[in-house]
Amino acid sequence: MDRAREALRRVFGFEDFRGVQARVVERVLAGKSTLAVMPTGAGKSLTYQLPATMLGGTCVVVSPLIALMHDQLRAARANGIRAATLTSADADWRETMDAFRAGELDLLYVAPERATQPHFRELLSAAPLALFAVDEAHCVSEWGHDFRPDYRQLRPLLDGFPDAPRLALTATADERTRADIVQQLGISADGLIVAGFDRPNIRYTIRHRENAVRQLERLMAEQPGPGIVYAPTRAKTERIADELARRTGRPVLPYHAGLDPSVRAANQAAFVSSEAMVIVATVAFGMGIDKPDVRFVAHAGIPKSIEAYYQETGRAGRDGDPAQAVMLWAASDFAQARQRLGEIDEERQAGERARLDALALLVETPGCRRAVLLRHFGEDPPERCGNCDNCREAPGVIDVTELARKLLSAVYRTGQSFGFGHLQKVLTGAADDRVVQRKHDTLSVFGIVGEDEARLLQPLSRALQARGSLVANEHGGLGLGGDAKAILKGEQRVDIVQPPKRERESRRASNQAANPLGDPLFEALRELRRDLAADAQLPPYVIFHDVTLREMAAARPTSRAELANVNGVGSRKLEAYGDAFLAVIRRH
Ligand code: ADP
Ligand code: ZN
Repeated sequence: MDRAREALRRVFGFEDFRGVQARVVERVLAGKSTLAVMPTGAGKSLTYQLPATMLGGTCVVVSPLIALMHDQLRAARANGIRAATLTSADADWRETMDAFRAGELDLLYVAPERATQPHFRELLSAAPLALFAVDEAHCVSEWGHDFRPDYRQLRPLLDGFPDAPRLALTATADERTRADIVQQLGISADGLIVAGFDRPNIRYTIRHRENAVRQLERLMAEQPGPGIVYAPTRAKTERIADELARRTGRPVLPYHAGLDPSVRAANQAAFVSSEAMVIVATVAFGMGIDKPDVRFVAHAGIPKSIEAYYQETGRAGRDGDPAQAVMLWAASDFAQARQRLGEIDEERQAGERARLDALALLVETPGCRRAVLLRHFGEDPPERCGNCDNCREAPGVIDVTELARKLLSAVYRTGQSFGFGHLQKVLTGAADDRVVQRKHDTLSVFGIVGEDEARLLQPLSRALQARGSLVANEHGGLGLGGDAKAILKGEQRVDIVQPPKRERESRRASNQAANPLGDPLFEALRELRRDLAADAQLPPYVIFHDVTLREMAAARPTSRAELANVNGVGSRKLEAYGDAFLAVIRRH
């Protein structure tokens, strides 16, 4: 492994392996087949790219998305790795095949539908292979969330080259899917390596949605870097994008399946190469985007499930720098989601309801968000992480069982068809025309909530809706559901989280920005990176990551040798860009 570390420093300029990378690389170098389950940002690609530069022969990488392959190709070439793709979008087929035959490729990327064709197998017989890497390996399993039949056809190809070890990689696979992958791809059970799900550099914050645009505007003020905002509908992506652009003056673009494909592709490309853009998108956005410097992912409405939340927020901070995940939720999100439950097949309802309940638990918890997430994925995390909203400022928890019983009985006694506003009036004894007309001022629940308690009614109603004890109909009328009866009978306790004070929140979060934006040297290095990137038509992060520029600004290297010690400066990049960066450092 000393040789591997030496190559890691020389090719990638990285100090050391991260997490399970070393274990995976060690197995690959020993010729053993492996399934590596590593969360987004853990550095999966390095586990085959590095061995590919060390072993004789070519590493064949099976990957499902052309955009992803081209991202990888750019990054690999920028590190001086000899890489090529064979896809329908490439014109240089002949050169690629010749280079492969001549043994001049470290990496050959190919889509599964091509990999399974006989003439590809023939091509592979023409030169030695180092290994097979199967990216997004969950696609091979029907249990995974993205089954692709072509992946099933890979086995004969792999079996045709028994000397080449197999490395299957995925970010998301539960136990059943993992077992299926190792079986489908012929990997022995002891070849499973699973990294933890934790993404320690992501700060989770979950807030009630008061005004999405204003809350997002505040977030953007704290985070000058690129961000993704997920919105529930196409219309909302456009409206939010427009308003954010107008209010902040930052580049903000929408992305959804209804846009013209050329506009969509252009918006995506602009986002990938931008250092400041925010893209407001439906969940269609993100698959196959490898942008490492996304500084925040915000949800303007609840995600579909904890799995979806984890995957979507996982697009933040792949480069390991601090990043934020902010969810803005409203009771109506849960109400609508629970209403939709009624429209799906009965046998799927229980599962979908459990997903929503798990999500409500995450939203409502006064405890550590990360702990809830990790426990959901079967881990045993510490009680507190120190990097989520609730850990940074423990919210007060209030026992509102009595108030909940009052609210629920008001719902019951008024016939389970009135909205929150009306119920609030009845409970606080505000007799307007409608209340009097319905004779709700004669009910036993009229005016039973005092001034002190009244301010808790709204957060309580939200919490009860999130957990399904109150269910809204399409007109906003509230009815009883879930455990409402148990609460009414006094068998079930209800706690809610004390709503946070708004002002403090933004000031506290602002000291999180990792980049020393006021530092003129750091700014000058970024400017040089922008120029170089524009010349080479590459996204800036392919030249160097922020963390590398930050280290440069702090260490102020004066020679190539010193510059080579900065994390992320490998020999190829030192050669290509070293002198330009040294010149800027000298001038400041
Ligand atoms: P994944 O595919 O698992 O989401 P990537 O392979 O895209 O992750 O890697 C995420 C980022 O982490 C990349 O920008 C990569 O350069 C960086 N990275 C990977 N391994 C290391 C390491 N050992 N040290 C520092 N940075 C690393
Ligand atoms: Zn926490």
